[in-house]
Amino acid sequence: MKKIAVLTSGGDAPGMNAAIRAVVRTTIYNGCEAVGIKRGYAGLIDGDFTKLDLGSVADIIQRGGTFLHTARSEEFMTKEGKEEALESIRIHKIDGLVVVGGDGSFRGARELCELNVPVIGVPATIDNDIFGTDLTIGFDTAVNTALDAINRIRDTATSHERIFLIEVMGRNSGWLALEAGLAGGAESILVPETPVDYETIVKRLQRGLDRGKRHSIILVAEGVGSAFDVKRKIQELADYDIRVTVLGHTLRGGTPSATDRIIASKMGAFAVNLLLDGKTDLMAGMVGNHVVGIPLQEIIGKKKGIDEYVHNLAGILAI
Ligand code: ATP
Repeated sequence: MKKIAVLTSGGDAPGMNAAIRAVVRTTIYNGCEAVGIKRGYAGLIDGDFTKLDLGSVADIIQRGGTFLHTARSEEFMTKEGKEEALESIRIHKIDGLVVVGGDGSFRGARELCELNVPVIGVPATIDNDIFGTDLTIGFDTAVNTALDAINRIRDTATSHERIFLIEVMGRNSGWLALEAGLAGGAESILVPETPVDYETIVKRLQRGLDRGKRHSIILVAEGVGSAFDVKRKIQELADYDIRVTVLGHTLRGGTPSATDRIIASKMGAFAVNLLLDGKTDLMAGMVGNHVVGIPLQEIIGKKKGIDEYVHNLAGILAI
């Protein structure tokens, strides 16, 4: 293997730059050439390739986003699009590819594998919704960003005796709401994996108010629906002063946490080593404290459930 390329695809996540850096540096360390592909599969189709040397990935480990930029490409999902992508790979003599992204990006990776292009996936999404890996790059940073917002909202909530609903991203997954809610001491955490019981939520709020609590914070995962709808449903049962904050894309940005930089470095390096060992069609995932290669076909399209123990624990601790 002489030339290894890397691309970032789908939603961006803090730590993607650290993953690219690890791919590039491990590739060069092993005497191969490193190539960056801009704008994910769109750039692969367009031949938007750039040679990367050691200096090209200097000073990016601490930066959010992805300096290779990312995109969603409808064209790549067509037969013609994939043929053009394959042609770019041939022209640029790419021997192996590392795809940094989420479930959709891995579906694309699998299709390239089926066309005999060696590909390894590196899981990156703030949603932490990829089956087979304990952690995805960007999740820890997003949890900490949400936590920072919760802490700030707590200050104002206490001053005004208010209830706050905080909506966080996560698509169909409750992981981000769950971990930010546990760390932030939320009264209730609403996740799409569990039916929402408004009577219980109101009972909890009332119990808190009765014992003199001056503030309450409820985390709402976007997969449950709009926090404004949740507010309306609570207010149908009780006349509380409720404010809504939607954190939205703030959760995607910011300097990556130490954990995200560390797992990105480990996964990126591991992905290159898998390619150098002649492996393909795998994801470099975290299991326990180790990075392992997991067949892409075993993870794609599978739902990664939330940790029910943690959800129950958050409820117990918010009593
Ligand atoms: P995130 O979860 O952060 O949004 P993702 O990787 O799941 O990341 P998607 O938008 O689902 O993001 O996928 C990114 C790109 O991967 C798509 O724009 C498309 O080019 C490619 N892709 C997705 N699904 C497929 C598929 N079934 N076949 C081929 N390519 C796909």
